[in-house]
Amino acid sequence: MNAENDLKAQADQNIPEGYDPDLYRIRHSLAHIMAQAVIERYPGTMTAIGPPIENGFYYDFDLPDKLGEEDLKGIENRMKEIIRGRHSFRVREVGPDEARELFRDNPYKLELVEGLTQGGYDEYGNALPDAQQTAITVYRQDTFLDLCRGPHMEHTGEIKFNAFKLMNVSSAYWHGDEQNPMLTRIYGTAWRDKTELHAHLKRLEEAQRRDHRRLGRELELFMGHEFIGTGLPIWLPNGATVRRLIEEYIEEEERKAGYMHVYSPHLGKQELYEKSGHWEHYKDEMFPPIELKNENLVLRPMNCPHHILIYASKLHSYRDLPIRIAELGTMYRFEKSGKMGGLSRVRAMTLNDAHIFCSPSQVKEEFANVMRLVERAYRTLGIADYAYRLSLRDKADSEKYVDNDAMWDMAEDMLRETMDALDLPYVEVPGEAAFYGPKLDIQFRDVLGREETYSTIQIDFHLPNQFDLTYIDRDDRECHPVIIHRGVLSTMERMVAYLIELYAGAFPVWLAPIQAVLIPISDRHIAYAQQVTARLAQAGFRVEIDESNNRINAKIRNAQLRKIPYMLVVGDREVQGESVSVRLRSGENLNAMPVTAFEALLRHIANTRSLSLVENEKQPEA
Ligand SMILES: [Zn+2]
Ligand SMILES: [Zn+2]
Repeated sequence: MNAENDLKAQADQNIPEGYDPDLYRIRHSLAHIMAQAVIERYPGTMTAIGPPIENGFYYDFDLPDKLGEEDLKGIENRMKEIIRGRHSFRVREVGPDEARELFRDNPYKLELVEGLTQGGYDEYGNALPDAQQTAITVYRQDTFLDLCRGPHMEHTGEIKFNAFKLMNVSSAYWHGDEQNPMLTRIYGTAWRDKTELHAHLKRLEEAQRRDHRRLGRELELFMGHEFIGTGLPIWLPNGATVRRLIEEYIEEEERKAGYMHVYSPHLGKQELYEKSGHWEHYKDEMFPPIELKNENLVLRPMNCPHHILIYASKLHSYRDLPIRIAELGTMYRFEKSGKMGGLSRVRAMTLNDAHIFCSPSQVKEEFANVMRLVERAYRTLGIADYAYRLSLRDKADSEKYVDNDAMWDMAEDMLRETMDALDLPYVEVPGEAAFYGPKLDIQFRDVLGREETYSTIQIDFHLPNQFDLTYIDRDDRECHPVIIHRGVLSTMERMVAYLIELYAGAFPVWLAPIQAVLIPISDRHIAYAQQVTARLAQAGFRVEIDESNNRINAKIRNAQLRKIPYMLVVGDREVQGESVSVRLRSGENLNAMPVTAFEALLRHIANTRSLSLVENEKQPEA
């Protein structure tokens, strides 16, 4: 048996990589303190598991009665008393029999004790790497004893009582399995001090204000319906307008850059995906096949095989290359329902996709052109918080990655050299490549600082072999082309979700579903307002008129809530002077200007895709 100090030193090894050790100890200790408080206040409670998590901790309880958010304050107050009690966290090792005896009234803990006794599991029931065996230890503070590997603080008094907050109550199944009993989960957030806690709560509030699911409803951008199913959003007119404008923009950029656009079906035979390797590597993320009499059709999870068949339908000479095939390609992925929500996780998505077929000597230049397009498009959309990640193979993993060292080395070097030549910063991460080649990932960061891959550019020497794609080179020899798979704007779903949150729903003028609303002061100004509306609509702008009986302030407030960039107020003076009084959604007044002047302003801002409302500055206003 180990001494207490040894056990505490060992416990530090349980802190996950990248997790701040102080925060881990604080959060883990608070989980225990919360469990003590809950058991005291609700006798008969059984504890299940309570680990530290990102930003805080939780504990799952089997409670005698239902518990609601209104009960959290009482639990929190009791936790503060326990903190003030400066109770030591004591650890000791126990044998399996003593552990069974200590937790004899708690079936959850007994199950976990068995996992620890057998080996290969931790005290939360998670499998450990290499079926590792660990000692069974228990931690005690004050009256509470838990099956636990630590680590914890020395005593409860080391925790700042004003640096944590219980956030919510939800339900969770034991081991996440619906067949098991439903438990009550209480979440808390915890930090080093009050300032850190407040900063976190502020970020949460900001994330809620920008949440695309909420704004999607309020601004009528998209909707879901249970008759259609989870992860299958419908684009409402406002959202469809934003999407169409983004699609038109990127297609225009692609045409200028020499891409050719195609349409291809959303289905293909299962054999096609067997040949491409997707079936083997990707099957779990595809919908099950549609079984017909003589064939199986699958909803495509990617567009590459279709574009490859387009290339293969003709003979090519080196003079034809590069061939750039682009499509706003709709595809389907069988996302597990747990992780879906709004537009950011969906089961049907449309990717701003393209495949560039080129000779090996053209790869670097083509890749550089893609990067220039990426940089330009992001600048136009006002996206500034992103980073490049070079995703390489894990040399030790020949299972996941196509086995051809020379091919990998060459492709990885091409990406590196081009990024360096363009002077674009990047980090290298092994083990993140696609199965057939390395890729450049574009990482976005959301309001909460979470990083996610939005777009990728991949260099692929593998699929051209797989499909035996060829071209005739200068010396009349048959050669394999290289494929560059590239997305620029990700899927329309994720890009629009991102932009909704980036702009908190206040889109730049060129993307705004409604660009201006006419607000007549009284009924006698309606005819003039209609005239101005018609004129602007005729000129190609998206304009509405508010003919409701609301008072002028209510009309302005309404337009403000809908985040319409320009409110054009018209009364006697404006009718007289053939003008409009321009109010911006930012609250600023531009006062009266002739209709012709406003039209010129709107045209300039919209055509230059400016991010400002008044002049061509590339600065987001939100
Ligand atoms: Zn613990
Ligand atoms: Zn592809």
